Amino acid sequence: MSQYQVTQKTKIKRLPDRAEYDRETIHGILDEALICHVGFVVDDQPYVIPTIHARVGDTLYLHGSAASRMLWALGKGANACVTVTLLDGLVLARTAFHHSMNYRSVVILGPLEEVVDPDVRNKVLDAIAKHINPGRLAEARRPNRKELKATIVVKIQISEASAKIRTGPPGDDDEDYDLPVWAGVIPLSLQPGKPIPDPLLKEGIDMPDYVIKYAPDDWHRSK
Ligand SMILES: Cc1cc2nc3c(=O)[nH]c(=O)nc-3n(C[C@H](O)[C@H](O)[C@H](O)COP(=O)(O)OP(=O)(O)OC[C@H]3O[C@@H](n4cnc5c(N)ncnc54)[C@H](O)[C@@H]3O)c2cc1C
Repeated sequence: MSQYQVTQKTKIKRLPDRAEYDRETIHGILDEALICHVGFVVDDQPYVIPTIHARVGDTLYLHGSAASRMLWALGKGANACVTVTLLDGLVLARTAFHHSMNYRSVVILGPLEEVVDPDVRNKVLDAIAKHINPGRLAEARRPNRKELKATIVVKIQISEASAKIRTGPPGDDDEDYDLPVWAGVIPLSLQPGKPIPDPLLKEGIDMPDYVIKYAPDDWHRSK
């Protein structure tokens, strides 16, 4: 099935033409975003906590310290709302009312469940490292027994999920297009900066190609 089922809870009400339930679209946004925000309730208090995620198929995984309240609550099967947002631009309209932003966002609803199978946990931790930077897996030491014990992995099925996407120019009201006001979009994107070697890096360790590739053009020109 290429579309996630629209449910009473995931039906987008405002500007429904921006809604997407397409699996490929939702997966693409989740994979591009580096972080998500997880909303959950503990003792009547809602929390929304930023964290790293990784998607494998139709499952989204989170990880963290076994001492973390977030992971502890989520591992117990708490209902959660996971939100991911990619900001693509500032939309400057002719009227203050129609100012907006271009974005791609996803909301996933459902219970979280702790992952206990050691093989799955290892694969998830690899997927998270890969999500941060695909090149790291070939080099970084894998978690040892003590580190694995200190880590909780939780998962949420991507089934009750929606995307909402805004693209393009401002949408002013017809009568306002004659206003002598500049209108348009300021594109925004997340850009890598110049790589900074760890001051404690041992001598003779070269910067790997996958880091060099990440670096911005002006850094390459200055080399
Ligand atoms: C980009 C990013 C990626 C992260 N990735 C991970 C991850 O993969 N795994 C992970 O476990 N944690 C991650 N964190 C940290 C995460 O947001 C929490 O701080 C942490 O999981 C909660 O730890 P805790 O149980 O000690 O705090 P909690 O007991 O959950 O929180 C106690 C209180 O601390 C405050 N607090 C907690 N976190 C934050 C925060 N981020 N900003 C401001 N106030 C806060 C809140 O008031 C909260 O009620 C990430 C944070 C960021 C910003």
